[in-house]
Amino acid sequence: MLTESHWEEAHRSRARLSWAIAGVGMVAVGLLNVPAMALSVILVSGGWRYPVSGAFAVVMGAPFVVLMVRVAERQADRTDESHRRMADQLNDAVARADREAKSRDAQASRQQFETHLANALEMAEGEPEVLDVIERSLAKVAPGVPAELLLADNSHAHLVRMAAVGFPADGQGCSVDSPAQCPAARRAQIQVFEDSEALDSCPKLRQRSEERMAALCVPVSIMGRTVGVIHSTAAAGTVPPDEQVHDLATLAKLGGARIGLLRAMAETQLQATTDNLTGLLNRRAFEQRVTEARRGHPSISVAMADLDHFKTLNDTYGHEAGDRALRLFARVLRESLRSDDVICRYGGEEFALAFPGCAPADAKRALDSVRGRLDAAVTVNGLPKFTATFGVTGLRGHEDLPVAIGRSDATLFSAKRLGRDRVLIDEELPQGQAQPDGCVPSEILAE
Ligand code: GH3
Ligand code: MG
Ligand code: MG
Repeated sequence: MLTESHWEEAHRSRARLSWAIAGVGMVAVGLLNVPAMALSVILVSGGWRYPVSGAFAVVMGAPFVVLMVRVAERQADRTDESHRRMADQLNDAVARADREAKSRDAQASRQQFETHLANALEMAEGEPEVLDVIERSLAKVAPGVPAELLLADNSHAHLVRMAAVGFPADGQGCSVDSPAQCPAARRAQIQVFEDSEALDSCPKLRQRSEERMAALCVPVSIMGRTVGVIHSTAAAGTVPPDEQVHDLATLAKLGGARIGLLRAMAETQLQATTDNLTGLLNRRAFEQRVTEARRGHPSISVAMADLDHFKTLNDTYGHEAGDRALRLFARVLRESLRSDDVICRYGGEEFALAFPGCAPADAKRALDSVRGRLDAAVTVNGLPKFTATFGVTGLRGHEDLPVAIGRSDATLFSAKRLGRDRVLIDEELPQGQAQPDGCVPSEILAE
């Protein structure tokens, strides 16, 4: 590499040479005059002697002058070469600095995008909000081009468009149906298709339109499983810029991670609030939901349910049949009651129910319909016949929930004593006669 010292050295040697040429020239002129004069004296006489002597001096000095000029030219060439090399090096250095500045700028803008995206996703508390962030990010990363996010549904078999930007009103997206059919999702690798007509282009891209097009497909993973793709299209032959590929990969990575985290949190929350066997609320979640429901409804009815002779069913047909019966009963409750009603597996084969905005008589009607549907469902599902008994009460004023649960439990026991497979309201028993042990006065038993 040519340095500044090389450059200075070249200048110094050029100056030295100039002085040397001048010195040697003066000496040579002086020395050449002697033979020139001698020759002119021998060959010419009179006044012609001086011009002839001058001519001899010029002829004899000419080779020397030519030599000096060549040496000076060579030195000038060397200096010019150094000049040129230094200028080239300078241009290279400027170009490199320019490239580095551009790459630093690109890196800074990627980091800025990543930071903003991470912040936005961190604030998104549900999947719809995450999808909104992804949609807005797509518009920023791929401005003016159609881009969409396809994610697998719960069955993991079908891809569904969850976010889209830049499509015309009737614009069709990618027709890929499942993650297994999408090359990017299947290979878990970013795919760039420059031309839909190319031999190795995605078949879905080729079938999509008569117009040739290019596509960029970025796989999306949620909890370690590739379940979707971010897909954008452009005019055929378009190579997506590195920044766009990088930003879409960041969007896929962070968006997928956030959705995964929210799903894991929802799963944990669900496990903490539901019963594994039936999927109904557990006792703690039931109490919370009833407390919430009480804020909006002055009247709430509460019921306890218990499957009849369940021990016999277990002993006769096995525990597995018992479990299926419990699941079926839970399903019948869910399908028969309103979505506002709160249903809980209280423990074993006992269930607690709350009916916001219902008087006990309304709750009784609903539970009688549950009994009817249970009877039909048991037959349809090929289970041994089983029934359920219910005790209903109204939740009074500011009464604590456990007090009302205790009263409906006592009513349930009274209903068992009355013969099971029925719904009994505590008000149907004479005042104070629903005993905690379910004792029923003999005159009612006789009815
Ligand atoms: P009653 O009509 O008086 O309620 O009689 P019962 O046989 O239903 O009542 P009991 O309390 O004697 O028996 C309840 C049975 O429920 C005993 C227990 O093995 C069964 N059970 C409780 N939890 C489960 C469960 O998760 N799965 C199955 N298969 N059985 C359960
Ligand atoms: Mg029981
Ligand atoms: Mg029972």
